[in-house]
Amino acid sequence: MDVAKLSPRLLLGPGPSPVSPRILQALARPTLGHLDPQFLGILDEVNDGLRELFGTTNQTTFPVSGTGSAGMEAAMVNLLEPGDTAIVGVKGVFGTRLAEMARRLGAQVVEVEGEWGRPLDPERLIEAHNDHPGARLVALVHAETSTGVRQPLSAVGRHLRNSDTLFVVDAVTSLGGMEVGVDDVGIDVCYAGTQKCLGVPPGLAPITFSSRALDRIRNRESPVASWYLDVTLIAGYLGSERRYHHTAPINLIYALHEALAEVRDEGLGARFARHARVGGRLQEELVERGFGLFTQPPEARLPQLTAATLPDGREEGPLRARLLEDHGIEVGGGLGPGKGKLWRIGLMGHGARDSSVDRLLEAVDVLMEDV
Ligand SMILES: *Cc1c(COP(=O)(O)O)cnc(C)c1O
Repeated sequence: MDVAKLSPRLLLGPGPSPVSPRILQALARPTLGHLDPQFLGILDEVNDGLRELFGTTNQTTFPVSGTGSAGMEAAMVNLLEPGDTAIVGVKGVFGTRLAEMARRLGAQVVEVEGEWGRPLDPERLIEAHNDHPGARLVALVHAETSTGVRQPLSAVGRHLRNSDTLFVVDAVTSLGGMEVGVDDVGIDVCYAGTQKCLGVPPGLAPITFSSRALDRIRNRESPVASWYLDVTLIAGYLGSERRYHHTAPINLIYALHEALAEVRDEGLGARFARHARVGGRLQEELVERGFGLFTQPPEARLPQLTAATLPDGREEGPLRARLLEDHGIEVGGGLGPGKGKLWRIGLMGHGARDSSVDRLLEAVDVLMEDV
């Protein structure tokens, strides 16, 4: 195989999302050393841009070298010690993954489970915290990519502010596509990924730590179980010492720098409005074509990730394969209870535009015609 001959695809799945030509060009700039003052200037600007996007003044804000799951692992491994209690909201794949990571770190995990396809009632999380007031953290997924659910955060954030329990939020599919508001909501550790609504290839996980979270990490009894993800060591490279920890993924950081410039050029409000409008349009047009929307209630539906059942009980797998082969469009299949029943359609970052919806609907109309 020759990578120069690969067929292009329109990426409308749960990630990765399409990468704009501008970002691809940034990726192709000559590689610099990770201690080169020019590169360090780029990295500082990236961290400033991430603060703006997260809605935080947290000093410790940077891209973890690794995908969204590395961000998740960085949050959990820095905050948890064996024997700690972790309250985790579980209503999809990524909540399940958070709980699994916490268990592997030796935490007592309290799972607050909910039906897949619906948000968790914040009252249930607050109750779980009242039952376990000494819990180290409460972790929630803001945008559950496995089910298309938007999870309300603010009531939990308000509640935890008056306690010593830290609030961890997965914003992998929300950052860059909708407001996260780390400081307003009262989130202590928030992580994301670059290949969803930021439109950068996979490989970086923006993360931010509040001073409260850093205090907790400094007062741990045992060292952070992961050397690579230990934020106190990484901080030595980010700060004025510029101490080598690991080699930064230079070219990916150029790409993220360019993505943040795109965000600034468009404006945050305009970018969120674009995602909301285009996703809303797709959902309406799918319903007109006999698709069902899996996520309930309607106000919990993410515009950037639509989970849709197919018309007339059609099997999703063969149609999804033809969408890719005949039309060059990728969408995702269902997970968990949605397996075999759903398409998960992402309109993220550079892909969140009317032309994506037009191309998808044209292809859908062709596929639905010849049964
Ligand atoms: C994609 C995703 C992840 C995992 O990110 P990877 O980049 O696949 O490691 C975590 N949480 C959510 C909500 C996601 O959508």
